[in-house]
Amino acid sequence: MTKPLSGRTALVTGSTSGIGLAIAEALAGAGARIGLNGLGTPEQIAAAEAAVRKAGAPEVRFFDANLMDPAAVDAMMDQALGWGGGVDILVNNAGMQHTASIATMPVEKWQAIIALNLSACFYTMRRALPKMAEKGFGRVINIASVHGLVASIDKAPYVASKFGLVGMTKVAALEYAAAGSRDSGGVTVNAICPGWVETALIEPQIALRAERFGGDRAKGYRDLVSEKEPSGRMASPSDIGALALFLCSGAAHNITGTAMPVDGGWTAQ
Ligand code: NAD
Repeated sequence: MTKPLSGRTALVTGSTSGIGLAIAEALAGAGARIGLNGLGTPEQIAAAEAAVRKAGAPEVRFFDANLMDPAAVDAMMDQALGWGGGVDILVNNAGMQHTASIATMPVEKWQAIIALNLSACFYTMRRALPKMAEKGFGRVINIASVHGLVASIDKAPYVASKFGLVGMTKVAALEYAAAGSRDSGGVTVNAICPGWVETALIEPQIALRAERFGGDRAKGYRDLVSEKEPSGRMASPSDIGALALFLCSGAAHNITGTAMPVDGGWTAQ
């Protein structure tokens, strides 16, 4: 039986761990060829490759690029656009966080977070979208955050980068809205806005909160989550993978320019 994404190629940035790896696995399960990218030891990269192969990817390739370097992003896009029919699905997922007040935030952290969480997404989209329009099919999924919709203290560069990413998502959606057709699948650009997702990225925040409870991680976790999320629970990376997979389907051809929260009610308040 042909799988829904057979013949498609997906490039997922920051897919050596966490949400990116889970998205890559979800798309692999639907038959897509997977381009991986991210930082990590050779063992971590090999483990990510093995995971997406096991999930069902017919082909896997690792694109070694530090996305903070515009020239490296361009080189990655040259290679990815020339591989397996080009990039049908682009998932801009790589991201970083650093928490500190505006007054104490190191300037280098501001620059790094804006470079990775926002500018790198522009560098990939500007190369991928024109080719998607030529084919009449394309999906760009930007992994933003609830922090692209609402703010929290001590996250100035992160919140600025994610609000920027949501804004750029809408601009790109409008520019490409008329590309393709219902039959070809169209070109859509959307942002997913997760609240808390259980990955390595948030471990420092859990550890910091646990300090208030004498180092009790479970209490710190509960306190952190319930402060913002009425559901009182985090999403798992595979939940985000499942939503990304739906956005790649034909049924999602007319969903574009959205910023979809997966946040247990955080932004409904
Ligand atoms: P993670 O730390 O597990 O994964 C981040 C990925 O980005 C890794 O593969 C890492 O190697 C890669 N990366 C980091 N710097 C890079 C660089 N310079 N060049 C290339 N790749 C680089 O984090 P995660 O929680 O899976 O986060 C993924 C995305 O989801 C991020 O954009 C994050 O802002 C967003 N997000 C996460 C949460 C959460 O609660 N975990 C919530 C909302 C949004």
